[in-house]
Amino acid sequence: MFEVARWKLTAWYLLIIMIVSLLFSAAFYNSSTREIQRIIDRVQFDQRREFAPGMRVLFAQPARSAPSLDELELLKKRSFMGLIIVNGVILVFAGAAGYFLAGQTLKPIQEMVNEQSTFISNASHELRTPLATLRAQLEGSLLEKRLSDPKARQLIHSNLEEVFALQSLTDHLLQAAQSDVLETETAKEQLSLVEIVTSAQKKVSTLAAAKNITFKVKIQDAVITGSSAQLTEAVIILLDNAIKYSPENSRIVITSRLKSSVVELAIIDKGRGISPRDLPHIFERFYRADAARSQKEGYGLGLSIAKKIIESHDGQIGVTSTFGQGSSFIVTLPLS
Ligand code: ADP
Repeated sequence: MFEVARWKLTAWYLLIIMIVSLLFSAAFYNSSTREIQRIIDRVQFDQRREFAPGMRVLFAQPARSAPSLDELELLKKRSFMGLIIVNGVILVFAGAAGYFLAGQTLKPIQEMVNEQSTFISNASHELRTPLATLRAQLEGSLLEKRLSDPKARQLIHSNLEEVFALQSLTDHLLQAAQSDVLETETAKEQLSLVEIVTSAQKKVSTLAAAKNITFKVKIQDAVITGSSAQLTEAVIILLDNAIKYSPENSRIVITSRLKSSVVELAIIDKGRGISPRDLPHIFERFYRADAARSQKEGYGLGLSIAKKIIESHDGQIGVTSTFGQGSSFIVTLPLS
């Protein structure tokens, strides 16, 4: 992220410096050539007068000290070449200086972002243990036969749901923070797309079963390169959303097809869809569509993490959706 920003900033610095330098050079070249042209005109005029009959006696003054026409033309060419060389040197020097200065400008911001990410990742780590304990205790209480009061059981159930949501938030925060700090570190294993999808599908099977949602899988296998854990996580996020935003008893279709050097994986649901107003923003961090805000689970982090994972694998993620009818998330990944 910062390397791209550094190059962009360098390009801006360079653009400004080169505009100033070129404008200055053009003005300088213009005034110097006008001066040279004036001298050329005068020399030509003197030469014409020298050869004009009758005028010779009166005006003939041999202009020995005046430069010849060829010399003046050469001077014009030389000043043009000189300006090109000077601008070339400025371009190289300003490029190097701009790159250095851009690095210096971005350094404190980068340090701040790193500190923030470390803080978030530490905080999420610290929250994991108490949440796991709380979850175990609540689950234990629900298993307790002596706890017969239905109201108490309901309360524990709802607390357990909140704990699930908080656990998913801390996991996602941890992933988001780590992807900021370790953005370039992607494992390079040879992976099977079918294995990734199957393992992701297994992880969400309980959620799907709870809503009686079925999967229709029609996958053409493909070998891709990257991190199995990260890519599985990206598919889990997409499947989890498809389940979350689909009605009970519906079906989710998972398909893939090979297209020259890439494979396209599509996850299609017949859920509530996304409104055109929300569509451009759903991959932003913490963005949740209005309709989703009323729902408990989810904090608007999933898709931003999925996008980051896919892009770190040189892939792309896109969505088409019709509000009220369903959505198709399409992931494109390069083949090994
Ligand atoms: P969340 O945790 O809120 O689901 P995400 O980043 O995963 O966060 O998704 C962002 C928003 O995109 C969601 O709040 C929801 O409005 C919308 N969205 C994502 N996937 C779907 C889907 N399959 N169907 C409808 N809306 C979706």
